[in-house]
Amino acid sequence: MNEANSDLTTRLVHHSYQPPSDFVALQPAVHKASTVVFPNVAAMRARRWLDKSSYTYGLHGTPTTYQLEERLCTLEGGKQCLLAPSGLAAIACVALALLKTGDEVLIPDNAYGPNKSLAEAELAQWGITHAYYDPLDLSDLAARITPRTRLVWLEVPGSVSMEFPDLPAMVRLCRERGVVSALDNTWGAGLAFQPFDLDGDGSRRLGVDISVHALTKYPSGGGDVLMGSVITVDQALHLRLKLTHMRLGIGVSGNDTETVLRSLPSVALRYRAHDATARELACWLQQQAAVVQVLHPALSGSPGHEQWQQLCGGANAGQGAAAGLFSVVIDPRFSQAQVDAFCDSLRLFKLGYSWGGAASLVVPYEIETMRACSRAHLQPGTVVRFNIGLEALEDLRADLAQALVAAFAAR
Ligand SMILES: *Cc1c(COP(=O)(O)O)cnc(C)c1O
Repeated sequence: MNEANSDLTTRLVHHSYQPPSDFVALQPAVHKASTVVFPNVAAMRARRWLDKSSYTYGLHGTPTTYQLEERLCTLEGGKQCLLAPSGLAAIACVALALLKTGDEVLIPDNAYGPNKSLAEAELAQWGITHAYYDPLDLSDLAARITPRTRLVWLEVPGSVSMEFPDLPAMVRLCRERGVVSALDNTWGAGLAFQPFDLDGDGSRRLGVDISVHALTKYPSGGGDVLMGSVITVDQALHLRLKLTHMRLGIGVSGNDTETVLRSLPSVALRYRAHDATARELACWLQQQAAVVQVLHPALSGSPGHEQWQQLCGGANAGQGAAAGLFSVVIDPRFSQAQVDAFCDSLRLFKLGYSWGGAASLVVPYEIETMRACSRAHLQPGTVVRFNIGLEALEDLRADLAQALVAAFAAR
């Protein structure tokens, strides 16, 4: 075909120019594809989507997604990784891959709320039952595992109320009973502890089967990308998850993947900075009259502090590691309206869900409506959760101080 004679549009679609192939830059390129082009029919017939030895279709991976998957395996100490368009989609993919009619899934009472909604409103429709267990009571989990139990969700620490469970003991129990354990590792982010090496000594004697991570939080770090990952160390389990992932058409965009790749190298530095400021503010809030309890696993007296010390205490040169997330319980003598006024009075802390970004966030919660198990370890009062961003400690402390005065000063 004489290119010069063909139609303009045809020439724009099939352009003859090819850039030199030896371009090297520091940042991975954004590869975007639905169609992946094969050099000949033999290569097309030989396509393999099961491993990363080639490319078949955009949904099954591009150089950009392969690179993020491999880096996330490095972050969490896993071997295989699947990407999903949100943390919740990653959770749903695990549930749909491993559960069928007649099975039961166990979920901690303090789990990320939408995981519970998935079980209550969607899995139930498929004849999959669920039960909630008390994350602070190993015997409760042990008693609830039956022959129908196919999946146990673990979360460290619990959403909003921040209880830190005995993760190694729970994983050991799941192993003994032959049940798959899936950890929501969004808080730990691969930085506070090693999900596949809970002894932390490189032995890999004890680890979760699956680690799910809402990359939306710390890996993205910007409050602008939704993404999730499902990481494993067992190839057979990975393939089971991958088949469901493929059949459900779960994929992520090249641009979003590149955004996470761009943020990932700074994740450990950011995590440490969020942690340091959060711990200072949590300690300071403990001294404030309106606050009856601070729920931060690194603070002694917080529910599960000893378990945090055991699992995360050795990280960060003996300082231990924690995310920049904690909650407080406001004295019940203050009304809900006053707690709302406190949140509204904050200027640097913005009202909004999610966490892990540079901006500090605040959310008041009605914990009574969220929990079925014992709340004996929680003081009565209204729970307010803070995500500590990257702002300066003194600015955040001053903001909290003025809002405490504005909302709770004696009147
Ligand atoms: C945010 C979050 C998720 C879900 O992530 P999305 O990307 O928002 O769907 C899951 N688990 C935990 C603990 C989270 O904080």
